[in-house]
Amino acid sequence: MNVPFVDLKCQYANIKDKIDSAIKNVVEETAFIRGKYVENFEKSYASEYGVKNCVSVGNGTEGIYIALKMLGIGPGDEVITTACSWIATSETITQTGAKPVFVDINPDCYTINTSLIRGKITKKTKAIIPVHFYGQPADMDKIMAIAQEYGLYVIEDCAQAHFAMFRGKKVGTIGNVGVFSFYPSKNLGAYGDAGCIITDNDELAYKMRLYANHGSVNKVDHLFEGINSRMDGLQASVLLTKLPYIHEWNKRRYENAMIYNSLLKDFEKIKIPVVRDECQHVFHVYAIRAEQRDELKEFLSSNGIQTVLHYPRALPFLSAYKYLNHDKDDFPVAYKHQTAILSLPMYPELERAQIEYVVKKIKEFYKSK
Ligand SMILES: *Cc1c(COP(=O)(O)O)cnc(C)c1O
Repeated sequence: MNVPFVDLKCQYANIKDKIDSAIKNVVEETAFIRGKYVENFEKSYASEYGVKNCVSVGNGTEGIYIALKMLGIGPGDEVITTACSWIATSETITQTGAKPVFVDINPDCYTINTSLIRGKITKKTKAIIPVHFYGQPADMDKIMAIAQEYGLYVIEDCAQAHFAMFRGKKVGTIGNVGVFSFYPSKNLGAYGDAGCIITDNDELAYKMRLYANHGSVNKVDHLFEGINSRMDGLQASVLLTKLPYIHEWNKRRYENAMIYNSLLKDFEKIKIPVVRDECQHVFHVYAIRAEQRDELKEFLSSNGIQTVLHYPRALPFLSAYKYLNHDKDDFPVAYKHQTAILSLPMYPELERAQIEYVVKKIKEFYKSK
């Protein structure tokens, strides 16, 4: 049996007619950049989230950068974020001229360890970027309390957590802004690069919208210099077509995760993901911790099962951050995490038989040891 890590072809096959006509409409109307479909998507996404503004951008990385810049983050500032994320979260901090300050993760749920944040705050700290990692919300109560106490901005990195909830609130609506990526394999994925920023702050939304569009609203005048970070009509049209399905897809991801959990829960070689009580997890990634991880990965691969590491190295240990001189004792949990983590196949269309096969092969691997 073959079990791919994700199967975007399967999703396309299920909604092919709708996607094809959505794409055709954009081409026929030559609504390539911004335009009607982009406006409709912004409106629909904002309304799904119950927020006043959705600013579409070229991709999630630029979304974080634009939010940081328009919140006034720049040289001399520090921004706190988690040790475990994709580099987009931290490289954008550097790009504003500020310094990324990493915090270790929780051993149970892999999001930023909020009890370590205070120890990293200095006079230069301006913001916190929590990441709702793998689809599990970070502890937003603690983060917002700290942010309030020290007057910090909170930029939620929601790239892996479309419609995840913390204490009944959708992530992205709790901090000052929420940034989303619609990279094709994300829970809500375009057919290319796309992203957006949501916020209830009208003035900030206006600035971000301008900055993403060369500092201009009308192409006549440019109020300041910006960048080019636009969503295109094809992506907006694909996203509009997929948006009505996202809750069903998230539900299936969750159900698949619970099947994995129930089959693996008493198996001592594997640590299954924990879903915290206050969180509605959307399982962008189903990550286990495994003994002899690399050998297991190899064994699964030879049995047609594709797995991925999210991520092979935590941010502080990447060559890009060598200048910060971190070693493994600075982030012991993140370090241990990168050596043991393994992401199993996860997508809405994954079938029970495939999950059972993956689990059977995992158990077979350890039996042979
Ligand atoms: C995917 C991702 C991003 C970046 O999104 P792009 O659209 O690929 O630029 C940012 N943060 C996290 C945690 C991500 O997983």
